[in-house]
Amino acid sequence: MNLIIEDLNKTYSNGVQALKNVSLTIPQGMFGLLGPNGAGKSTLMRTIATLQEADSGSVTMDGIDVLRQKEEMRTVLGYLPQEFGVYPKVSAETMLDHIASLKGINNKGERQEVVSALLQKVNLHGVRKKNLGTYSGGMKQRFGIAQALIGSPKIIIVDEPTAGLDPTERNRFHNLLSEIGENTIVILSTHIVEDVTHLCSDMAIICQGEVISSGHPAELVAELDGKIWTRTIEKNELPEYQAQYKVINTQLKSGKTQIHVLSEFEPDPSFERAESDLEDVYFARIAERMEVVPE
Ligand code: ADP
Repeated sequence: MNLIIEDLNKTYSNGVQALKNVSLTIPQGMFGLLGPNGAGKSTLMRTIATLQEADSGSVTMDGIDVLRQKEEMRTVLGYLPQEFGVYPKVSAETMLDHIASLKGINNKGERQEVVSALLQKVNLHGVRKKNLGTYSGGMKQRFGIAQALIGSPKIIIVDEPTAGLDPTERNRFHNLLSEIGENTIVILSTHIVEDVTHLCSDMAIICQGEVISSGHPAELVAELDGKIWTRTIEKNELPEYQAQYKVINTQLKSGKTQIHVLSEFEPDPSFERAESDLEDVYFARIAERMEVVPE
């Protein structure tokens, strides 16, 4: 089962073209949609989640014409939006029970079973009676996943889920998503490259509304093998290097600046070859894109 997006376009009424001929095939498993803020990720996610209209193009999944058969899509979809508000004075258990009944699980016993299993799955069973307002950021996100999982969806969309989570909570959240990705399409929209590196078997990079790269993370990284060069410089030397080389990434390390340069050849003998990673792919593709269409 694949989600197939073809030639999707969206221009907002203020003239911003948020999606430009977006075409992607998203298979089962974890799919990472990476892009800087304003790239069009949420627009794409909301369109797939049937929450907003596209101007043209199509989205299909398992025989469903997503843009037209909205109700059918909603029955197989779980969605965790970027801004996930909770009712602070309601317990996780009561809230899930309520959502389950909204989603059509009318039998009380069945609902209790579903809710209890989900609370176990997201590791909130021990705190199920506590009000959602008392939950940490990570707990709220896991609650968000539990609500998205009601009704055994075939596709789960999570928009920027790890912003604000501490490393332990993030790790736990990642493990939970991986588990779900074993038998579901999970689309993870994020601007955090590391989330995709560790989790996703397929990915795409979107920038200024366009897909600028897509494929398996390891293969995209391999394309840059031997083309990434590094050296440490003083911070004030950076503009000079940027003028001379394609500096795609800079990192502050013990007060010095480490730069990554994209080049087919050794820029000069002071550089060392660096092992390429997904961050290089991301920054190289975005830099190439910006050269064509500067912001
Ligand atoms: P991302 O999720 O990657 O940050 P968005 O899809 O939110 O990107 O936004 C893509 C572009 O569309 C941005 O330039 C944003 O300002 C613009 N945009 C998003 N929503 C609206 C809206 N409702 N009306 C007008 N412009 C919007």
